[in-house]
Amino acid sequence: MKILCVLYDDPVKGYPPVYARETIPMIQRYPDGQTTPSPERVDFRPGELLGSVAGALGLRRFLEGSGHTLVVTSDKEGPNSRFEQELPDSDVVISQPFWPAYLTRERIEKAPKLKLAITAGIGSDHVDLKAANERKITVAEVTFSNSISVAEHVVMMILSLVRNYLPSHDWARGGGWNIADCVERAYDLEGMQVGTVAAGRIGLAVLRRLKPFDVGLHYTDRHRLPSQIEAELGLTYHPDAASMVPHCDVVTINCPLHPETEHLFNDALLSKMKRGTYLVNTARAKICDRDAIVRALESGQLAGYAGDVWFPQPAPKDHPWRTMPHEGMTPHISGTTLSAQARYAAGVREILECWFAGKPIRKEYLITEGGRLAGVGAQSYSV
Ligand code: NDP
Repeated sequence: MKILCVLYDDPVKGYPPVYARETIPMIQRYPDGQTTPSPERVDFRPGELLGSVAGALGLRRFLEGSGHTLVVTSDKEGPNSRFEQELPDSDVVISQPFWPAYLTRERIEKAPKLKLAITAGIGSDHVDLKAANERKITVAEVTFSNSISVAEHVVMMILSLVRNYLPSHDWARGGGWNIADCVERAYDLEGMQVGTVAAGRIGLAVLRRLKPFDVGLHYTDRHRLPSQIEAELGLTYHPDAASMVPHCDVVTINCPLHPETEHLFNDALLSKMKRGTYLVNTARAKICDRDAIVRALESGQLAGYAGDVWFPQPAPKDHPWRTMPHEGMTPHISGTTLSAQARYAAGVREILECWFAGKPIRKEYLITEGGRLAGVGAQSYSV
């Protein structure tokens, strides 16, 4: 089989000759009890850079040793890209949300042999799921592999916005000692009301991590959490985002991008927020209206916006979120720490081992199968 894998570019200064840490903690189970990926073996050392082209998700020896062809590229845009050139005779496509190879309907039509699309990470919105279903292409992702990685990033971004960390750091780097300039926008998180749109794996992990900060916690989701979790965390449930946001000082977005959530945060919803709300979006950029976010920051309706998700990815140099006021943006990195890479690389290997052996892929990894939403996809997505 031919496996076409699209990964982000290698570091500009070359592969790290040595890593910052010798080892990474090995996690056996996720908070809900689900086991971490369990391939028969892996051919990499956890903690290595696997997510860029030369790392090849640690799959090269396994795939080539079993007689398959592996093509790895970062060149993914437009009809002359290596991705489009290699697609027509590929059986399997592997892509990452951080550097998404958009599997549009047109591209799916150009790939008659394509049967499996694997997301190395979580979030398969870069695949046209309707078109994939029509062709009975299986779409799978490595559920939970980087949920805690993202939750940690969310907490970091909330604290850095509220406490005005990045501008203060700039003063320090620039040789200044301008305390008043640093603190004129700095607050404590303690006592604020924090709400999450969705309390799935990431959203709930964010709520759990914020509990010790003595904040009021709010959520909205399509399904309500068990009452004992609501009681344990002191959660206030709201039926939808519009009814939740007026109560919040900080809002974090943790739902998938699908037709129900696209452009949910538009001028109308932003105008329902308290003036000076902080918004953190590590879910997907298109859940927000790009220009409405810029307007809200310029007017002061939002006090800050941070996140790591953009549209398109990579974001063009002139994307307004790079330069809007009071932003704390990063490239799409929250779910691709070296710790997360070890888990999703192992998860991709597990999915491939199952696929080659004709064994069922874990239900929790499935988004679509046999022409319909399946497994975790049937729970969280709509087409
Ligand atoms: P989960 O599937 O565990 O949680 C998603 C939750 O969103 C579910 O509880 C689901 O509801 C809920 N939901 C769906 N639609 C709506 C809606 N219209 N309003 C409110 N809630 C809704 O996923 P994760 O927590 O693991 O990941 C969430 C998203 O985060 C991913 O889809 C991905 O887009 C993004 N992500 C980003 C990463 C990054 O690196 N920045 C990495 C990983 C994920 P229910 O199931 O109850 O119906």
